Amino acid sequence: MNLDVRTIMVLFAMLSLLFSGLILSAGLHTRSINSVKQWSIASLCIAVGLGSAYFFQTPTANAKYAVLLGTTLITTSIALQFTGIQSFKSGQVYVWPAVVFVSVATFQTYWFEFIHPDIISRTVANSLICSIGYAACASETIVRSKPKLKSISWLTGFSFALLSLAMLIRAIVLSQSSPETYSLYANIPVNPATFLITCALQLCVTFGFLVMLNRQVMTEIEQFATRDPLTGAFNRRLLEEEIAKLQSRSKRIGDKFSLMLIDIDNFKSINDNYGHLNGDEILRGLAIIVATKIRTNDYFARYGGDEFCVLLPSTDTAEALIIANRVREAYASTSFLVGGKVIKTSISIGIVDSSQVGVEFKTMLSAADQALYKAKHSGRNKVVLHTTACIAG
Ligand code: GH3
Ligand code: MG
Repeated sequence: MNLDVRTIMVLFAMLSLLFSGLILSAGLHTRSINSVKQWSIASLCIAVGLGSAYFFQTPTANAKYAVLLGTTLITTSIALQFTGIQSFKSGQVYVWPAVVFVSVATFQTYWFEFIHPDIISRTVANSLICSIGYAACASETIVRSKPKLKSISWLTGFSFALLSLAMLIRAIVLSQSSPETYSLYANIPVNPATFLITCALQLCVTFGFLVMLNRQVMTEIEQFATRDPLTGAFNRRLLEEEIAKLQSRSKRIGDKFSLMLIDIDNFKSINDNYGHLNGDEILRGLAIIVATKIRTNDYFARYGGDEFCVLLPSTDTAEALIIANRVREAYASTSFLVGGKVIKTSISIGIVDSSQVGVEFKTMLSAADQALYKAKHSGRNKVVLHTTACIAG
C-alpha cells in the first residue's frame, strides 16, 4: 500500500470538520457547553491547520507563513482539548499552560523558519511539543479524573497517551533525518505513518469524548428523575420503586424491612424567624446528617416539605430504633451556622416494620405517621415505634 501524505491530510481535514460539527450538535444543549465549544473549535483548528499546510506545498515565502499558521492551529487544538477536558470535569480551567504551550510552539516555528531556518530542528521540536501536549491531555483525562468519570474516560485518555507516544517516536525518527532529503511530502514513511496514526487516534479521542458527554447527560437525566433538587435525597418516585422491590423480596423470602418517617420540629418557626432560604439550608443540613448516619443499602428520600423517609432493608424495629436515635442525636447536637446565625433544632421520628402492619406502602406510611404524631405530642425530639408507642430519646 502506498500511503500519500496529501490524501491523508485531505481526509484528516475533512474528518476533523465532521468531528467539529458532530461534537457541537451532540453537546449543544448539555451542561458541558463550554467544553463542547472548545472541542468543536479544536477540530476546526485541525481542519484549517491541515488545509493551510496542504495548499502551500512548495517552499515559497508564503509556505513559511502557512507552516507557522499550521503549527499555531494544531497546537491550539491540543490546548483547547486540554482546557476542554478541564472544563468538562467542572474543575478549574488553567488557561496559562495552554497559552504557554501554543506560544512556545509558535515561537520555535518562527525561529526555525524565519530567523535560523532549520527544518529538522523545527519538526523535531514541534513533534516533542505536541507529544508533551498530548501527555498533558492524557493525564488530565485519566489521572486527574473523578472516580465516577474514570471508567468512561479511558478511551479518550488512552488515545491521548498513544498520540503522545506517536509524536515522540516521530521526533526520534526525524532527529536522525537529513535536512537535504526531508520535507513534509518527501517519500519517507514517517510522515504518512504519523498522519494516519494521528488521524485514527483523533477519531478515537473524539469518539471517547462523545461517550463521556453521553454518560454525563445520562447521569444528569437520572439525577433529575430520582433526586430531590434541594437536598439531593432520593425523591418519592424512587422511594416507591424501592419499596416495591422490598415488598416483592419480603413476599418471596419473608424478609422484613422498616420504614422511618423523619420530620423537623417547629420548622415553620425556623422559616418565619430566619427566612425561607435559611430554612432550605437546614433541610440540606439534615439530608447530609441522615445520609452519613444510615447504612449504605438504606434508602433515604424526601417525602415532601420537611418530611423525610428512610427505608431500611432486612431491619426490624429494634435495629431501626438504634439507627433512628443515632440520626436524632446527631441532628440535635448540630449547630447550623446559616447566614451568620447559629440555629439549633431537633427532629422527631416515627418507625414501623413490615411484620407489624404488612408490606403495603400506604399502610406502613400511615403507621409511621401515627408514631411520628405521638413523638410530636410527647414533646418532640423523640423516636417512637409504631405498635408499642415506646418513646425513646
Ligand atoms: P412540627 O414540629 O409539628 O412538625 O411543626 P412544623 O412547624 O415543622 O410543622 P410542619 O412540619 O407542618 O411544617 C412544615 C413546614 O415546612 C411548612 C413549610 O412552610 C415548610 N417547607 C416545606 N417545604 C419547604 C422548603 O422546600 N423549604 C423551606 N424553607 N420550607 C419548606
Ligand atoms: Mg415539621
